Amino acid sequence: MSRILAIANQKGGVGKTTTAVNLAASLAELGQRVLLADLDPQGNATMGAGIEKRSALPTVYQILLNQVSVRDARMRSEPGHFDVIPANRELAGAEIDLVNLEQRDLRLKAALAQVADDYDFILMDCPPTLNLLTVNAFAAAEAVLIPMQCEYYALEGLTDLVNTIKKVKQRLNPGIRIEGLLRVMFDPRSTLAQQVSDQIKQHFGDKVYDTVIPRNVRLAEAPSHGLPVLAYDRQCKGAKAYMELAEETLRRAGITAGETA
Ligand code: ADP
Ligand code: MG
Repeated sequence: MSRILAIANQKGGVGKTTTAVNLAASLAELGQRVLLADLDPQGNATMGAGIEKRSALPTVYQILLNQVSVRDARMRSEPGHFDVIPANRELAGAEIDLVNLEQRDLRLKAALAQVADDYDFILMDCPPTLNLLTVNAFAAAEAVLIPMQCEYYALEGLTDLVNTIKKVKQRLNPGIRIEGLLRVMFDPRSTLAQQVSDQIKQHFGDKVYDTVIPRNVRLAEAPSHGLPVLAYDRQCKGAKAYMELAEETLRRAGITAGETA
């Protein structure tokens, strides 16, 4: 059985893709079999995993339209040691193409179910909107990981996200839960960041991951080389933080590192 996690926040630029790629690589480093599904038409997770998105056909788009199976679409991230379902701009049309189809919310879930036994973890990198792609991710997910920056407006958009998760819970996926809030791009010298971090902890208690991802330029540089940070600079603070997050993820899932599910 694989643990299926959606990485979501409808704000753009909050570290979803960075978290998806680097958590995938760090879980793989700990011996886990990982599939990363890129659900953003921007294809940043695809490229960050070292896969050329132009040549990356078929993609999650064809999977959603039942034109291809996950087995035929998945590719290997060589530097990341995990599998990827790629995405590209074609996916931007999925919303319209899916709207009149049967089971339009459940297509990703059905597709992922076919390969569930091949993986210990399936991560989904969601787009920066609460659209049909995100709903497909929530319908398939056991839990949601929400990355957030500790900024003044950080909590503001969370209500919409939490409401969407609630609706999916009622209508499509009664088992879904918020796995946790992950503080990213954290600057410990900023008083505001500390205050917002405290506020997040008050609000969400132990739903907040103990691991904090610091702002680290190596994390921003690695994708331009098509590498997860572990393959780019494994000693940097960012790489260590994502290894810590992978360890925390295994602890939360009740797995000992080195063991597979
Ligand atoms: P999203 O997927 O939510 O839009 P990204 O993961 O693409 O966000 O991150 C937005 C930008 O911030 C990217 O340029 C990324 O490289 C950079 N970034 C993300 N996390 C960090 C971090 N911890 N330190 C420094 N830069 C980061
Ligand atoms: Mg992204």
